[in-house]
Amino acid sequence: MKTRTKTIHSAYPGKDAYGALAMPVYHTAAYEFDNAEIMADAFCSRVPLPDYSRVTNPTVIYFEKKVAELTGAGKVYAFSSGMAAISNSLLALCDSGKNIVTSNHLFGNTWLLLSRSFARYGIETRFCDLCNPEAVRGAIDENTVCIYAEIISNPLQEVADLKVLADIAHQAGKLLVADTTMIPFTRFSAKDLGVDLELVSSTKYISGGASTVGGLAIDYSCGKEFADRMQEMLLNFGAYMTPHVAYMQTLGLENLEARYALESANTMELAERLRTIPAIRYVNYTGLKDNPYHDIACRQFNDTYGAMICIELASPQACFDFLNRLKLVKRATNLFDNRTLAIHPASTIFGNFTPQQLRDLDVSETCIRLSVGLEDMDDVFEDIRQALA
Ligand code: PLP
Repeated sequence: MKTRTKTIHSAYPGKDAYGALAMPVYHTAAYEFDNAEIMADAFCSRVPLPDYSRVTNPTVIYFEKKVAELTGAGKVYAFSSGMAAISNSLLALCDSGKNIVTSNHLFGNTWLLLSRSFARYGIETRFCDLCNPEAVRGAIDENTVCIYAEIISNPLQEVADLKVLADIAHQAGKLLVADTTMIPFTRFSAKDLGVDLELVSSTKYISGGASTVGGLAIDYSCGKEFADRMQEMLLNFGAYMTPHVAYMQTLGLENLEARYALESANTMELAERLRTIPAIRYVNYTGLKDNPYHDIACRQFNDTYGAMICIELASPQACFDFLNRLKLVKRATNLFDNRTLAIHPASTIFGNFTPQQLRDLDVSETCIRLSVGLEDMDDVFEDIRQALA
């Protein structure tokens, strides 16, 4: 099956008691067993039967299987948020005394998780330039567990070369972990690029219309010990996705391709039109041919670039004035909603960061991040134009 067909038809579980066409929402905490032997087998994972919805649930398993079939993963774990997928996976990989090699160009909470939360538990993070192979090689030592990359980085839109990073990681006997939230896994294969563990905030493209918060850990090649530890994380940390969220995200996954096709085409159109507005000093979108990351994004993601645009205005006050004058575009965080959204990252997502941290992360105080929706771009462009007039 081709990808679009798969998003709809893969992993169909067969008829339930009523022949329901969609996977039913199994809103139950626990499950009954025919006898004690089967119960013991289920609890010890000798048979694939759900036992307790903190760790297994039929509706969530269905969603996980759909993602596994679409990505070619050995195992997929659905979590209660993107951050839960990231934190649980990295904790499953790292003991105290180990380190993670990554870039400063990360989503704000990921950066804080690594630099602050993990540091408290003795897991070190080494920040370097992931676009510089020598710097990455130099940061790795015997205690390094993985290279962690975010592509496309939010909001800077940096695109590291995953193949190069995979080679460096694998030559050193380490893993490559990548947060690929910005480009749907239906459009490129992280597995083929050498990623061992793909992490996705399914709140974004997959949930569709910002219906729910969720996260995915997509394991291609992390090994048996990682699988055992992930099971331990689910049991002991308890951040598994809930059945209702899995149901909503399954629906989102089914129409992901249709939404993404329109959203990414809209983004390309809007990025080009925004360049005609004099008040915008710079339009950052990797789809634009003169963007510094255009070539690598084109090669890596099969000529698709996501639906996030960052624009540079004259001053922080100009950013606030712009936001306050918007009439159609919503002042909101999140990405890949059906609606176009605008946010000033420096005063919100990074609002509690120190000036030095903002400089370390290259977060610009004159940047507005736009998440482009499904509307007609004539209307969105007109709203942006009038808000800048
Ligand atoms: N990774 C990236 C690149 C993000 O942009 C976000 C959220 O904006 C996350 C992870 C965290 O995902 P969630 O909000 O689902 O926890």
